[in-house]
Parts: sequence; C-alpha cells; structure tokens
Amino acid sequence: MKKVAIIGAGLSGLAAALRLSKAGFKVTVFEQNKTFGGKAGEIKESGFRFDTGPSLLTMPFVIDELLSLSSEDKIEFIRPEVLCRYFFSDKSVFDANSDLESFIEKVSLMFGEPENNLRAYFIYAKNIYELTADVFLFNKFSLKRILINNPLLFLKILQIDPFRTINSSLKRFFKNEKLIQFFGRYATYNGSDPYRAPATLNIISWVENGLGGFYINGGMRRLPEIIYSKAAASGAEFIYEAPVISISQKQNSKVMLEYFKNGTRQEEVFDTVLSSIDVFKTEKMISGIKPSEISEPSTSAVIFFWGVKNTSAKMHLHNVLFSENYKKEFEDLRKGKVPGDPSVYIYISSKINLQDAPEKCENWFVMINTPSLANPQKFDYKNEIESLKLKILSKIKERTGINLKSKIIFEKIFTPNDIESFTGSSLGSIYGNSSNSMFSAFRRKNSVSAKLKNLYYCGGTVHPGGGIPLVLLSAKIASESIIKNLNGKSL
Ligand SMILES: Cc1cc2nc3c(=O)[nH]c(=O)nc-3n(C[C@H](O)[C@H](O)[C@H](O)COP(=O)(O)OP(=O)(O)OC[C@H]3O[C@@H](n4cnc5c(N)ncnc54)[C@H](O)[C@@H]3O)c2cc1C
Repeated sequence: MKKVAIIGAGLSGLAAALRLSKAGFKVTVFEQNKTFGGKAGEIKESGFRFDTGPSLLTMPFVIDELLSLSSEDKIEFIRPEVLCRYFFSDKSVFDANSDLESFIEKVSLMFGEPENNLRAYFIYAKNIYELTADVFLFNKFSLKRILINNPLLFLKILQIDPFRTINSSLKRFFKNEKLIQFFGRYATYNGSDPYRAPATLNIISWVENGLGGFYINGGMRRLPEIIYSKAAASGAEFIYEAPVISISQKQNSKVMLEYFKNGTRQEEVFDTVLSSIDVFKTEKMISGIKPSEISEPSTSAVIFFWGVKNTSAKMHLHNVLFSENYKKEFEDLRKGKVPGDPSVYIYISSKINLQDAPEKCENWFVMINTPSLANPQKFDYKNEIESLKLKILSKIKERTGINLKSKIIFEKIFTPNDIESFTGSSLGSIYGNSSNSMFSAFRRKNSVSAKLKNLYYCGGTVHPGGGIPLVLLSAKIASESIIKNLNGKSL
C-alpha cells in the first residue's frame, strides 16, 4: 500500500485525507494541535460554544460532492431568510434577504436604486462566475489550457473585468454610496481590499446572492467533524501534537518528514507528502532549497468571543456594523494600521443553535479586520486590546442601542498573533494571500511543488485560494494529481 502523509488537519487536510484514503492509500495526518479543524475550530467553555473561524458557507455543492464519497452521516445546510443585518453609520438598518428577487426589491426601496441597475449588476457578476469558475476555481490552474481552449480570450478577459477595481466597477452600476459599501464588502470575503482588488471579485457577490449563503445545522464546527469522521472511518490515521519540522527528498524520489511526537524528534519516509499548511512555511521546512518570496497576505483579525447574559431581537445570526468612511478603513489597513473606525462583524450562532448558549444568554463572535503582521507599524495587541474593546462596545451601543459591557460573562480574545500560532498561517492571515492585484490568481502556487518531487500543496495559500469551498477544491485538485501519479483508485 502506498504511503501518503498529510501535514495539517484543517479543512483542506481533512478533505484530502478522506479522498486519499478512499483512493486506497495508507494516509497519515500530522497535526500540530491537540485536535483537527485548524481555522474551523471551536471554543466550548462556561456553557457557551463558539465557532472560532468560518461562520458563513457558500457553494455547498462542493461539500456535497466531497461527502458523497462516503455514505454515513449527513450534513444539513440552512439558508436563513435574512442572511445578514447591516447597520450603517447614518443609523439606517438593512436586512439582506437571501432570496435574490426579494433582495433586489428591498435594496431598490432602501437605497433608491432602480431595480434594473441591480439586475444588470447581477447579470454582470453571474457572467464573471460562469466565465471564470471552470478555470479559476474547479480545476488545476493552467495558463496553457486557458490560451488553447479560449479562441475569444481577449473578449472574455474584458468581460471578467480585471483592469478596474471592485469599487470603480460598482460606481458604474450604482450611485448610492451605502450600496457601493455593501457590495464592496465582498472583497473582504477573501481578505482583500475593494479599492485595490480587481472587479473580477464581484464573482463573490454572485456566489452569495445568486447561489446562496448558508449555515450548517449544529454549527460550522460540524463540517470538520463530519469530514474527520469519514476520513478516520476510511482508514486515515491522525497524529496530534505532532508538528512537522522538516521535509527532505530521499532515494527513489520518496519524501522524508521529521516531526515531534511526545516531545521526541522522529522521522518517517513516505511515497508522497501533501502539505495543507501555508505554502511559504512549507517551503521553509524543505532542506537545501531557497523558499519562495511570500506574496501579500490577506487581512488578519481580532476576534472577541463574548458570552452575553442577554438576548436581543435587534441582532440576527450575522450582523455588520459598517464604518463611517470605508475608504479610510482600507487605507488604514493598507498602511498596516488597525483601523481607527473599523467595521464590526457579529455572528451569534445561538440565534439558530439554542444549545450554543445557556438560557437567556447569547454567544457573540465579534470580529474586526486588521492588517496581517507583515507591516512595520505594529499594533501593540497586548497593551491596546482593552481600548480596542471599549471602542467596539461603544460602536455596538451607538448603532444597535445595546449596552453590552455589563452583560459580558465570558470572554476570550484572538489576535493576529494567536491566529498565526494556532493555525500556522503566515503573519496571521486568515485566508492565505490577498487578491489585491489582477495578477494574484496567476501568482498563487499550484498544487504540485516545483521544489521537491512527490510534494504537493493544498489550502488557502494555493490555487484556487482561501475560504471553505476553495480550500476544499484545492484538496480535490491536489488529491486528483496524487491519485494519478501513484495510480490510486479513481474516485
Ligand atoms: C476568523 C476567520 C473567519 C473566517 N470566516 C470564513 C467564512 O465565513 N467563510 C469561509 O468560507 N471561510 C472563512 N474563513 C476562512 C476559512 O476558515 C479557511 O479558508 C479554511 O478553514 C482554511 O483551511 P485550511 O485547511 O487551508 O487551513 P487551516 O485551517 O489553517 O489548517 C492548517 C492546519 O495545519 C496545522 N499546522 C500548521 N503548521 C503545522 C506543522 N508544521 N505541522 C503540523 N500541523 C501544522 C494547523 O494547526 C492547522 O490545523 C475564515 C477564517 C478565519 C480565521
């Protein structure tokens, strides 16, 4: 039986473990933490349960395809009627319906934009999805394939709109600044900046509003749990508290991993290794090579996990309190500063999963975007977190009328440093690399390593990028290459 090692048991590592064990390989997963899940983690304390990473799911069909490889256990997607409640700086509140037609009607009424402008925008965004999904999402990225298979390439390139920014493309469709802010926020879904990222990223708006935004019954943590249980049932072995520290080539192009187990250094040789951790960190572990330069990381985050002794009808499952000056918020991020007036995202899973909080309480996941740790103007998270907390609490009070301060009975805080040390992501980035340039998709690493034979990559820093569906697709693309190369059972 061919031996395959996977480094990291986040969503992409888990998905690859399921695929490769189903293909008939002996799969061993090395995970530095005590458990699986990576960014899709969970906190369970003082009667509260929090998802620590993703809270919103798109493209659930990617998960359906993965889980169909094994018949046990099912997962239930919920499409909430109101996907997110938005609180603007002028105190207006907008509930974004998940049904596209009601959404268009409501947006038109609320923002005074003709329905036709909205329909034209969604035709444009859908077209970008249809033109790019095959090349940029679902398959191994190949410039050659794009050039050969696309006789009308130039026309298509113009239609996917890579030369303008998201912000300037939105101004073509809409006049209302709040609506431009609303649609511009989709750039942050992969940690990018609407004032720099190419308009091609309007694809995300179609993915959420056209194809749907979902939640998982039982909480987002159900996703890594179910993939893990299927992978383990298919024979994958998981070794925890086992950080991999070096990778090297051995005879017959086999790959050796050095790792710690029970505090002692150990080594083992595999036919193939798939690294699901940050590609730049992987390359640093390869002996005798020059690692690639790190690309611009995506944004990071500060997250407050607050157990709150209160319930409020004013809040939904997902809520956004927008900053007053969105452009300035992204200028701050670009300069490496924690924004002076950050937009605040609040996710309260106990609105749907009552068991996530004690009776008459709620679990608030409160997040702001911050720069990655790449920038020189370092924010002193240790000493300034209290003032950041007060700023956020006062914004919550001003926008929603809720005075949360005296109601917090449980608190845990994640800073970019925690995200970096817990998940191993370079500089605390939460999605891998940003997509702030029209060349980002071309610069992203492919699944086959150019540095070492029989080394493969998946996860947020490789094609097609960060976010749940994309990292699962990266695991699929890498697994298919491995199965082909090692003559595994096709799935
Ligand atoms: C706060 C936050 C909010 C998010 N919100 C959303 C959202 O709403 N929707 C969405 O789609 N996506 C969201 N994302 C992104 C999504 O969570 C990630 O893209 C995805 O979970 C990444 O999975 P992964 O397998 O690539 O990496 P990870 O989850 O980072 O897994 C990597 C694993 O490798 C382990 N590891 C690292 N180094 C080593 C080593 N040397 N040896 C052994 N193990 C190692 C880590 O411990 C970790 O378990 C969010 C992320 C964060 C952090």
